[in-house]
Amino acid sequence: MAEKTQDLQVDTHPLNEIRRTIAVLSGKGGVGKSLITALLATYLQRSGKYRVGVLDADVTGPSIPKMFGADKFKPRGSDEGLFPVHTHSNIQLMSINLLLEDPTAPVIWRGPILANTVKQFWRDVIWGDLDFLLIDMPPGTGDIPLTVFQSLPIDGLVIVTSPQDLVSLIVSKAIHMAQMMKIPIVGLVENMSYTTCPHCGQRINLFGIGHSKQAAQEAGIPFLGALPIDPELATLSDRGQIERFHKPYLQSCLEALEKIPSRYQTFKVPDLTPADDEKEILSDESDTRKQSDDSGGSMKKIAIASDNQVVSAHFGHCEGYTLFTVSDGSDEFEKQYLPNPGHKPGFLPNYLNEQGVTVIIAGGMGSGAVEIFQEKGIDVITGAEGDVDQVIRSYIDGTLQASGAVCHEHSHSGD
Ligand code: ADP
Repeated sequence: MAEKTQDLQVDTHPLNEIRRTIAVLSGKGGVGKSLITALLATYLQRSGKYRVGVLDADVTGPSIPKMFGADKFKPRGSDEGLFPVHTHSNIQLMSINLLLEDPTAPVIWRGPILANTVKQFWRDVIWGDLDFLLIDMPPGTGDIPLTVFQSLPIDGLVIVTSPQDLVSLIVSKAIHMAQMMKIPIVGLVENMSYTTCPHCGQRINLFGIGHSKQAAQEAGIPFLGALPIDPELATLSDRGQIERFHKPYLQSCLEALEKIPSRYQTFKVPDLTPADDEKEILSDESDTRKQSDDSGGSMKKIAIASDNQVVSAHFGHCEGYTLFTVSDGSDEFEKQYLPNPGHKPGFLPNYLNEQGVTVIIAGGMGSGAVEIFQEKGIDVITGAEGDVDQVIRSYIDGTLQASGAVCHEHSHSGD
């Protein structure tokens, strides 16, 4: 039996504080392990409660960057280490694909080098503070996954199966490996379980009824639900837009992940959304709408209408809103991303108000939206353009160049 593990474990970078590491494993390739890893990361990030990273350890078939549309992003390095790239919704990501000159060329390195690469992603990458680091494992239970399990402290293992799998065999191998390594099993998710007829909505079990639930019960591990074959999911992940997927699958799995205790107790992302009674006070004092941080200083929450990291010309029709939380007098900020929940007249200003936004920046905005924001005491800055990070820096410095013009074009009507 392989020895565990403490002595073989590699320390993470000294600048990292990673609260939970979750490995996602499958018996073979092609069952949707990477897609489920990406989807779980997307849901966790969207909740606004967590900082999320994805370590793509599927070194021979790294598909994660493409699903996030990040395959052309290049990680930056410093003397201290390597920084992960940030996806459109600000998930941190590291993959061998991001480091190769030609990401389409197959990776034909030997096992030990591949395993070493994954160790380096743990040791040399500056992830910083993360609530969840999801690890897309190499498929199977062979040498590379075994080395990864020995080298990294894993807090939970999610096993992905498909109805075509020899599920009980895969489950028993995975459980055996997890026991050897003393890794807690979060549970089992069955992917591609069924599909839904687009005409009548009836559920069709393409491969017969999956045995995963039974296999999980027999092995005494939680069954965390089934994911259907969903053409929208396939299309969005092929286009690099998985973060735009909104159907609430994998809820039991998410709940199980959220219950995993954190390794560190000190850090908490401040929830700046005002409570209902605070909202009333804020609306009464709308012209001085600011929030306090723990030290009694003032905080602003600035939303920038964004299309792919760039300020959007169209407030209502942008891809999403990058939220920056800034304390007065500080040039530090927290960054979050909210996908655009949909454009209906009058809806978005109220929605952003509910998120606690105090300033909205966009390229253009209709006069109706400007009025609602102003009624709520939210500052409106229009005419801004360029990279959202640079825009927020200029805003903080007081050098933001913006026309302030209200747009009366047809395309903004109802904004
Ligand atoms: P693995 O990581 O197990 O090798 P992937 O996650 O790369 O598998 O998935 C293989 C292919 O199947 C991808 O093109 C992915 O988009 C597609 N796919 C996986 N699960 C689903 C699903 N539930 N619905 C639609 N397409 C899926």
